[in-house]
Amino acid sequence: MRIRNGLVVLVLTAAQTPAVLAAELPIFDAHIHFSHDAADQIPLKDAVAILRKAGLKGALVSSSNDEGTQKLYEAAPDIVVPELRPYRTRGEIGTWVRDPTVIEYLETRLKRYKYVAIGEFHLYGADADLAVPRRMVELARQYGLMLHAHSDAEAVERLFAQWPQARILWAHSGFDRPEKVREMLRKHANLWCDLAFRTDHASGGKVDAEWRKAFEEFPERFMVGTDTFTPERWYFIGEHADWSREWLKDLPPALAERIAWKNGEAVIAAAFARKR
Ligand SMILES: [Zn+2]
Repeated sequence: MRIRNGLVVLVLTAAQTPAVLAAELPIFDAHIHFSHDAADQIPLKDAVAILRKAGLKGALVSSSNDEGTQKLYEAAPDIVVPELRPYRTRGEIGTWVRDPTVIEYLETRLKRYKYVAIGEFHLYGADADLAVPRRMVELARQYGLMLHAHSDAEAVERLFAQWPQARILWAHSGFDRPEKVREMLRKHANLWCDLAFRTDHASGGKVDAEWRKAFEEFPERFMVGTDTFTPERWYFIGEHADWSREWLKDLPPALAERIAWKNGEAVIAAAFARKR
């Protein structure tokens, strides 16, 4: 009896494994921070376990300060793609645009480590043309890095005006309407969008009609992301991956795969691989 049960269990397990693996869509999370407060509260090995358990194929990681990113990259180089944030602490979100010491910080880190992008930074409207952001854009150009901008459409336009060949990942799709996002994507071939910390594109496993149009028109330009802007949000990474898998099922499989991980892999991971 015991043996028979054992056999039944074995047979079921063997039969179920491929189906389970096929059902778990890999996720590239394009918006992770492991900032000083998170690094203080979450042991490194637990943070890595969270990323692995969520089934992440890749993660674009930036932190205030950069130490968190470097530790995480060292611990999980197969998942983590490092980007350099212009903040040494969380409080610099609103002050960095007028703080010239940010530039020294960026220069020091850029000489020492490899990154795929500078960001995520917060930059709005005419502030994009201040001296510090301008110098940051020059550094990105010099090092061949993408820009990850938490910005309104106006600041994105100003960044492209400074550097027409820039490659910009628009954080949170600018928290803008899907119609406006499509307009921006039509205008700029080197603009990609993350969907981090927004929920208007899907609910109850269904994709919003206007967002569906955006995804269908630009299948290669969207990525998902959690945005772990506080330590507690680290515990949401797995939930976010599962929530993404759920609404992505409402799209054709090829499109779902692109948004889930293929765009992140093709745009971000591949660009970093070329730097190594
Ligand atoms: Zn963020």
